[in-house]
Amino acid sequence: MQLGGQRSSGNVEDRRGIGVIGGGLGVGGIVIAVIAYFLGFDPTTATQVAEQIAPQRETSQQAPKTGAPADEMGQFVSKVLGSTEDVWTKIFQDSGQRYREPTIVLYDGQVRSACGMGQAAMGPFYCPGDEKLYIDLSFFRDLQTRFRAPGDFAQAYVIAHEVGHHVQKLTGTFQKMESARGRVSQSEYNRTSVRMELQADCYAGVWGHHAGAMKQLEAGDAEEALNAATAIGDDRLQKQSQGRVVPESFTHGSSEQRVRWFKRGMETGRPKDCDTFSTGSL
Ligand SMILES: [Zn+2]
Repeated sequence: MQLGGQRSSGNVEDRRGIGVIGGGLGVGGIVIAVIAYFLGFDPTTATQVAEQIAPQRETSQQAPKTGAPADEMGQFVSKVLGSTEDVWTKIFQDSGQRYREPTIVLYDGQVRSACGMGQAAMGPFYCPGDEKLYIDLSFFRDLQTRFRAPGDFAQAYVIAHEVGHHVQKLTGTFQKMESARGRVSQSEYNRTSVRMELQADCYAGVWGHHAGAMKQLEAGDAEEALNAATAIGDDRLQKQSQGRVVPESFTHGSSEQRVRWFKRGMETGRPKDCDTFSTGSL
């Protein structure tokens, strides 16, 4: 990619090296323990009670750094995010709407989100509850080594896919999905989930189309993203982990489907061509 002329986004929360420590007592607990001591109770019992009242209090050592990080990887992520902001702001504007920018959270190991605890093993994810994209940068290493999908555009595609989920939050698609949860069968829910994922792939392609128009792509970039889409399709992942393919439990779509929808967005650059919900064949 050619991101030299791209501004960095400031919507970055850098939680790398901070960690999440659960089980801290908190000020309330200490106060209870001190009062118990003066009243003649056993402070250990009081501490246990206090722990039950306020369990798992987060005691982060430091506040996360905000703004574009200075290191190379952090810079890359901020620029890709900046590029998606420019593209989607324009697209929303053209249809008379306002694009609300999401925040990207960089972390290692595990992270607390409005959607619960995130772990590196889950891969990158988007939480509609706090409108943040969570990414452990070790996934980019996995992409290169474990999934054999190297290249900076492959990494950018992963970010653009999560941004695609944010677009779905803004357009109300996420709400539809959430209201279906529990009302429909698990396999029906999974089918809807596949449509969500393929639409996010198509939206990533829409961004790729405009990034190309902004001269941010180089020869071979599109192939890198297609290669990544192939590598992280559910059929490929399941074959690697179970040795067979179980379509009912697909939640991201097959490699072929992911490639097809990414390509569609990339070709036209129009979000309306990403309607994976009313199409008969995915
Ligand atoms: Zn997704």
